[in-house]
Amino acid sequence: MIFFDKVSKIYAPGSAALENVTLTIEPGEFISVVGQSGAGKSTLLKLLLAEEKPSEGNVFFESLNMSDLKLAELSSVRRRIGTVFQDFRLLPNKTAYENIAFAMEVAGQLDENIVSDVPQVLELVGLVDKAWHFPHELSGGEKQRVAIARAIVNRPDVVIADEPTGNLDPVNTWEIVKLLAKINELGTVIVLATHNRDIINALGKRVVTLEKGRVIRDEKEGKYVL
Ligand code: ADP
Repeated sequence: MIFFDKVSKIYAPGSAALENVTLTIEPGEFISVVGQSGAGKSTLLKLLLAEEKPSEGNVFFESLNMSDLKLAELSSVRRRIGTVFQDFRLLPNKTAYENIAFAMEVAGQLDENIVSDVPQVLELVGLVDKAWHFPHELSGGEKQRVAIARAIVNRPDVVIADEPTGNLDPVNTWEIVKLLAKINELGTVIVLATHNRDIINALGKRVVTLEKGRVIRDEKEGKYVL
């Protein structure tokens, strides 16, 4: 579904953020990307979202070469990818419901779909009773659940989660990881970048380890080893 073909990214001459990375992500996979700070995790995710272009090599989303897409095509590919970040990135003046509904409005969805789908995803993430709360009235874990609901409401093929538990305590961390696993079981590819050793070891899923921009390990049921 996603194919990195000999991808290098060089921001500044002499040092590569990614070097000759070849990686295939299959439909249905849950893949964790680990590595020290500066190893290239964020760069890999940015290339996947076409926020950055490779200096060498190509990134394919199905048969589409991300570097060749025109703006309209790029928008439609990006709509197939949901994103979740460490800092939640919710709109502070909108309620949980409105944050999720807004993602559907921006994608041009009909009102009737919004009215039927937003309660469904709120149910999925366990936040029906907090639907009308503003972000400042939610805990960190709840905010992240709203962000996940927003990421999946347009039914993307892939969810990219960049350190989604970085601001959470262990209990909320587990809730978020379980939720991502559930979304994966429902058929969505998850690409998770994290530093959290316990998560990786407990997940028992594929782990790609980056070091200085290179893939040094790619294991089906990987452990966190740095
Ligand atoms: P990670 O997410 O694993 O911490 P990054 O992908 O952010 O790693 O960074 C990889 C390398 O690329 C680092 O050496 C970083 O300093 C460098 N880098 C990242 N983004 C930029 C940029 N926009 N301009 C220049 N260098 C960058």
